[in-house]
Amino acid sequence: MDETFQEERFTGVVKFTPPLYKQRYQFIKDLVGKYKPKKVADLGCADCTLLWMLKFCSCIEVLAGVDTCASVMREKMHRLSPLPGDYLQPTERSLTVTLHHGSVAQKDPCMLGFDLVTCIELIEHLEESELKKFPEVVFGFMAPSIVVISIPNAEFNPLLPGVTLFRHPDHKFEWNRAQFQSWALEAARRYGYSVEFTGVGHPPAGMENVGFCTQIGVFVRKYTQTSESAQSEKPTEGVYKTVFKAVYPSLKEEKYLQSAAVSEVIFTAQIITRSLLDSLMSEHKEYNDDPTERKSKFQPSMNCFSEDLGKLVVEKSMKPFVNGSVVYIPLKTIFSFPKVKRLCATVEKLRKLIASKVPLSSDGSAVLLNTEHENEDN
Ligand code: SAM
Repeated sequence: MDETFQEERFTGVVKFTPPLYKQRYQFIKDLVGKYKPKKVADLGCADCTLLWMLKFCSCIEVLAGVDTCASVMREKMHRLSPLPGDYLQPTERSLTVTLHHGSVAQKDPCMLGFDLVTCIELIEHLEESELKKFPEVVFGFMAPSIVVISIPNAEFNPLLPGVTLFRHPDHKFEWNRAQFQSWALEAARRYGYSVEFTGVGHPPAGMENVGFCTQIGVFVRKYTQTSESAQSEKPTEGVYKTVFKAVYPSLKEEKYLQSAAVSEVIFTAQIITRSLLDSLMSEHKEYNDDPTERKSKFQPSMNCFSEDLGKLVVEKSMKPFVNGSVVYIPLKTIFSFPKVKRLCATVEKLRKLIASKVPLSSDGSAVLLNTEHENEDN
């Protein structure tokens, strides 16, 4: 039976708002907001709901899930794939999401280098032999900066109707606060972590002595890890099987950056052109020109630049100008638009990114925009 459902049934009398599982996930989201980890692994990730929530945290660049049950991971893993909007508007950050079929009792090098490791309602599902190996795998081998472990608090169980021994048939044990804290303090001492205890799911008024419904230990590594110490004596052989991998489109990748730069340049060039043509049109109106004859009257006066002269002016000026039906927009002008600047960093980079996709003047200093269609429309 789904554990969340079971828990909510039990807690029908002691009502948690929001539901307890959401409070646990929110606790992790708050922690992510505080520590801003780049790489987060969720052990015992089940249907990947927490991973799905975490993919929206903009500081995270690597997300990984591990579970011994591949089928439960597969159920909703499609939620971890990029959406069409992610391709239409790639963001600055890169994001890779990977799911591994494997056990927390086994070491795999793909779990090295994480900043935050979460174990939400996991350890009470471990067999005795797995629980024995768990501290060495997580604190000793993976050794992330922060580990969060949540587990039911057995002292709360009398307040949950229907709970006789454990809250869920798959639980191998449940601990009271003293038991969890003594296990956690020993693991922390052994592997160089400090640990603080808290929880979610407040007890009802007058029953405060039982503590939180879910007890949580937040472990923080006390030593700094160099990349050498992180890799020393770590096995190179992988035992986990990757069942899912999604690489999100990111502006860090040249092809997405190029396509974003090209769209932004064309958009900016169109805005500049429209405003230039509008101002030229109003100049003509002042002389009582008939706008319907704009094309024929307008063009000769704009043809004042020869190709060579045009080049000269483009190089020296930030001002766009019209030559026949073509508008010359200096790259420097386009670059002065904040969004273009943010994307391309330098004019040179801008030129390089758009050169093969957008028509440029022969010296590469201006974007050429043909206004023939503009004139037809008017
Ligand atoms: N963390 C999720 C959450 O809070 O919604 C789900 C927790 S679920 C109660 C426990 C999960 O741990 C199950 O999906 C189970 O398959 C997984 N699990 C059990 N033993 C495991 C092991 N040795 N290694 C990795 N995952 C394990």
